[in-house]
Amino acid sequence: MVFVFLGPPGSGKGTQAKILQQNKSFVHLSTGDMLRSAVSEGSELGKRVKSIMEQGLLVSDDIVLDLIRDQIKRHKSAPGIILDGYPRNVAQARALDGVLKSENISLTSVLSFNVDEALLVERIVGRRSCPKCGASYHIKFNPPKRSGVCDHCGFAGVFTHRTDDTEVVIRGRLKVYNDQTSALKSYYGDMDRLIDVEADLPPKAVTNKISEAIGLTP
Ligand code: ADP
Ligand code: AMP
Repeated sequence: MVFVFLGPPGSGKGTQAKILQQNKSFVHLSTGDMLRSAVSEGSELGKRVKSIMEQGLLVSDDIVLDLIRDQIKRHKSAPGIILDGYPRNVAQARALDGVLKSENISLTSVLSFNVDEALLVERIVGRRSCPKCGASYHIKFNPPKRSGVCDHCGFAGVFTHRTDDTEVVIRGRLKVYNDQTSALKSYYGDMDRLIDVEADLPPKAVTNKISEAIGLTP
């Protein structure tokens, strides 16, 4: 099964993908995470994409296609694959169709995460993650049980705040989403693959909605 999680930044795609990864052994493929790893490793790829990401713009379609093609091939036989943050425009969606076709895999469904824009900004500004294990938190909506201590791996210290999670950059990222990515709703709607998810509910309620939509026990 292959699922695309489609939604604006901050709509909870990563949070829900991590839950499915933990509960159902699905593989979570986030192009944003892959690119951030390249940046923090200081690789050639990282050097090419760093400033584009800091500005909240999209990196080239060819770069992300290479990343995602490799990972899909590698995880072909997993119980489920979640594509988070890919595709982000119609050209990427067509490229994904090509990869899936050549691997003989069909796209199961596209979950469209719907959240009001004002709430998205609040969610992104308050997003933090554990620098050791990557667990995701929110300073107000989902803080760790003990302040500054990761619930998952016990790391104690300062949590990571993404450089592109500032209010100015977020406004630009939302514009990129509205201008380029939201067109994928009609692309996948026309293919009869689109499922709307009410994603402005608390995390557990969103997980239940997703499980119901794709026919899994939560
Ligand atoms: P995305 O991957 O779509 O950019 P994230 O999953 O990283 O979004 O979520 C953005 C922020 O919002 C994170 O800080 C996360 O903890 C918080 N968050 C995610 N889902 C919810 C929710 N259902 N209710 C409240 N906060 C949430
Ligand atoms: P994300 O973690 O999904 O919020 O992505 C962070 C940043 O990585 C984006 O603002 C883009 O600069 C880049 N990025 C991630 N996925 C893609 C993609 N599919 N196409 C182009 N750029 C991407």
